[in-house]
Amino acid sequence: MGRRFIDRNESFQCGHCGRRVPPSKRSCRNHCPHCLYSVHLDVFPGDRSANCGELMEPVRVEYHSKKGYQIVHRCLRCGHESRNVAALDDELQPDNLEMLLQLMRNG
Ligand SMILES: [Zn+2]
Ligand SMILES: [Zn+2]
Repeated sequence: MGRRFIDRNESFQCGHCGRRVPPSKRSCRNHCPHCLYSVHLDVFPGDRSANCGELMEPVRVEYHSKKGYQIVHRCLRCGHESRNVAALDDELQPDNLEMLLQLMRNG
């Protein structure tokens, strides 16, 4: 039988800094709160259908009037870019504000 739906909101180990990342209560966490790196797994957010699997580097932060701050990730292998909403209000493990501010200065 097996499970029809994949649980997308599970803990994972960051491929960049190696720290364990617990699942977020609010949304599907797809990046590390410590170093903000992500992994190229999704074609559309949460679908896990990209066949790449390489690390995605946080390159800049953009502000969206409805969604708030978004981290732009770029895949180190294929150059694919995707936007992820920053999880600053996560109760368990909010994104590293220092890292976010640094990215904002860079962009
Ligand atoms: Zn990390
Ligand atoms: Zn990729």
